[in-house]
Amino acid sequence: MIDVLIIGAGPAGLSAAIYVQRAGKHAVCLEALTVGGQIVNTPEIANYPGIKSTSGFAFSMGLYEQATELGAEIEYEKAVSVEKIESSEEADKESFKVTAESGKTYEAKTVIIATGAKNRRLGLEKEDSLTGRGVSFCATCDGAFFKGKDVAVNGGGNTALEDALFLTNYCNKVYIIHRRDEFRGEPKSLELLKNKDNTEFVLNSTVTELKGDKSLEAVVVKDKLTGEEREIAVQGLFIAIGQEPDNKSFEDIAELDASGYVAADESCLTKTPGVFVAGDCRTKTVRQLTTAASDGAVAALAACSYIG
Ligand code: NAP
Repeated sequence: MIDVLIIGAGPAGLSAAIYVQRAGKHAVCLEALTVGGQIVNTPEIANYPGIKSTSGFAFSMGLYEQATELGAEIEYEKAVSVEKIESSEEADKESFKVTAESGKTYEAKTVIIATGAKNRRLGLEKEDSLTGRGVSFCATCDGAFFKGKDVAVNGGGNTALEDALFLTNYCNKVYIIHRRDEFRGEPKSLELLKNKDNTEFVLNSTVTELKGDKSLEAVVVKDKLTGEEREIAVQGLFIAIGQEPDNKSFEDIAELDASGYVAADESCLTKTPGVFVAGDCRTKTVRQLTTAASDGAVAALAACSYIG
């Protein structure tokens, strides 16, 4: 019986694992994709207190090493359900069965859901078929393929601004397409981007069509104010329009809000005693590395105290 089974090995899940191990309990993380989660693709982290600058990859590896050196285990499995195990008359608390997509099952005294969020898609025709053929969701992974080429970044948050900054180092020209004329991302990054001579801002605009068959050749953008459409020839489009939760599998055990995030406040408690939630998959207003790490600590200590 695992003390704390953590679903997800991103910043929230690994922070939770560190706190669980340091509290003398045993943590097992189930990770469907990559240790570190979304942050692994961030070129530079410059707002985590105590670390002036690091890459998302280095930060993720640091978390991974810290958690595993403390004794946490990582299993590369996608959790698809969490069920209560009926408690025996002697047992005073319920335990949980977590089933992975592979069919493997785990029994745990407590569960922390730390599934983060997945990339939001534009929902355009050809978006799927051109992914990997010019359309990308990760500038750090794919940016180097576009050396000397013209590319566009769609979005106005920190990811879009940082991706665009990163791409200005490789690409001939970087268009930043955003649906408003104000940015959600940090003014500091925006200022750096405005000082680059190979950028062009395409504001109040949305991407309405992707052109090209074997690979991306152009995007069509519509100006929301004038209604005019314009075709921009680019070989790459980096979509950075935020994330969406992926918690449907857990809706019986943990209530979801209208947007699909696990409904819980700063205590990280779900409707089910023994099941906790941490990080970007939780209802919250600020989704940052710092708040993910904070949730990880809160959920881990709550889980350890629940076990007793
Ligand atoms: P985000 O902050 O949610 O920004 C998403 C952007 O995409 C917004 O500008 C939004 O426009 C736009 N958008 C959303 N849906 C759209 C659609 N259907 N079509 C066109 N545009 C759309 O997402 P993010 O940039 O991925 O960042 C997620 C979180 O991670 C944020 O809290 C961010 O601060 C954090 N983050 C931190 C770092 C770092 O600390 N180094 C790096 C990356 C991300 P509107 O502004 O009009 O809503």
